[in-house]
Amino acid sequence: MNVVTMFDFAVERFPNRVAVVEGDKRYTYRQFHKEVTKVAASLQRIGIKQHDRVMILLKNRLENIVIYWALQKIGAVYTPINFRLAVKEVEYCVNDAEATAVVYENASQESVLKANFQQKPILIGVGEVEGADIYYNELVDRSPGSFEKPVIDDNDVAIMLYTSGTTGKPKGVPRTQKNEYSAALAHIIQNQYQDGESTLGTMPLYHTMGMRSLLSIMFLNGKYVILPDFDAKEALELLEREEITSLYLVPTLYHDILNHEEFYNYDLSKLKKIGYAGAPMTTALTEKCVKMLKPEVFVNHYGSTEIYTFTINPNVAEKPGCAGKPGIHQNIRIVKADPNGQSTPEDIVENGEIGEIIVSIESPESFKGYWNRPDATKKAIRDGWYFTGDLGMLDEDGDLYVVGRVDDMIISGGENIHPVEVEDVLSKHPKVDEVAVIGEEDERWGQIVAAYVVPKDPSLTIQELDDYCKNNTTLSNFKRPRKYVFIKEVPKSPVGKILRRNIRNGEFELYHINENE
Ligand code: ATP
Repeated sequence: MNVVTMFDFAVERFPNRVAVVEGDKRYTYRQFHKEVTKVAASLQRIGIKQHDRVMILLKNRLENIVIYWALQKIGAVYTPINFRLAVKEVEYCVNDAEATAVVYENASQESVLKANFQQKPILIGVGEVEGADIYYNELVDRSPGSFEKPVIDDNDVAIMLYTSGTTGKPKGVPRTQKNEYSAALAHIIQNQYQDGESTLGTMPLYHTMGMRSLLSIMFLNGKYVILPDFDAKEALELLEREEITSLYLVPTLYHDILNHEEFYNYDLSKLKKIGYAGAPMTTALTEKCVKMLKPEVFVNHYGSTEIYTFTINPNVAEKPGCAGKPGIHQNIRIVKADPNGQSTPEDIVENGEIGEIIVSIESPESFKGYWNRPDATKKAIRDGWYFTGDLGMLDEDGDLYVVGRVDDMIISGGENIHPVEVEDVLSKHPKVDEVAVIGEEDERWGQIVAAYVVPKDPSLTIQELDDYCKNNTTLSNFKRPRKYVFIKEVPKSPVGKILRRNIRNGEFELYHINENE
């Protein structure tokens, strides 16, 4: 089974249901499929062949989704990257993927047109852009109408996502039809989705979470409501107007929705299922989600681009912060963490001990290696296991807690400290909006804990925060931040991951100079 067949079956099953909503426009499965077929035929006519990689630099928009399905239909590889990338980054990815075509729009036009490509790709423009060889409208209006159906194997590459590069240069992650089909199915089961489920399409389609939302909803003949540039008020309006039933977002977006001043003006009673992934959610935010959204299902999904699911906690309300047990296709182990990458899958640690989380690549959701990067593949996949670079431990029930990344661990006076545990405590302070913790060099301790805090209330003082930590019974004294900096905003990746490297490099704006500093 592959994603194309699943899509075709859905179109036949409920052709008149609404598939995609964009602004005031609604497209039924039949209408949507018609446009996909036209575009697929045109893409084949302009020379896109089976297995070709087509680089997509688009926001979440109808044309993006049509092109995704059109490429799947002709067996080509949908290869999306962040439309905000700079010239050199676009150049790197397009050359790396040896892309046959590049699809761009206004938001990405400057980078695409300035880039110097090794092999000139066909430039496909969406909307009002300059310099395109062909425009999306022409693909629709001048379509030959039908295309030659390729034989699609389960092991053919369906999409290639690029890891965002928070840990180095972006790496292409080829994902097969089997990977994509299995991940979508797992997503449906693990989030307890039903026939006709609807969601907000705001997680970018160049990220694994965006792809999962789209596929799971379309397999279920549900409604995918596009919100290209996330805005909390617009999200609230769409949640109410479109009676959206499920959300799958990074914690930051829940934070923004719940903190919107008009939150209580909206009727979100149809929203029953919420899930988060991509980054840890603080206990404070978890409690807020429970109280304000009253979800029937609240899932923490821990995973990555390489293997979609690692673990699932199906009941976050009961165990906040917990990542739960392996997903339906998964097997995990916690092994001795070795920053030099020498540990093996047999170096299993005891329950309750912190180690590196590794995941079996036997999973049908799992990739088999990075694109063109044998070095990175060799480092990440060892003896059939994917080394996540994440630290975690199992509790007495065998449930996983992710404590942070191996690279972010702070060692102060010989003791290991994980930024997330300190962030979790500080974010509960009523005058704190957000916080990011890093280790900073110190002559005496090697490293000290430094907290970069975004105040919610301008009267916040360092003394208050320090007292708060001293009085907290879960935070040992040696984990207490020895330095506080008040900043305007925590630097984050496009999908809401704290960019600790940026903080280390001083890339943030100070909030105000506090008298206690
Ligand atoms: P990178 O460049 O660091 O690989 P990315 O954003 O491109 O980042 P992803 O595949 O989205 O790549 O990142 C996966 C990582 O995100 C995991 O290894 C883990 O560190 C973190 N993560 C994902 N889900 C969760 C979660 N539920 N709780 C805590 N951390 C999570």
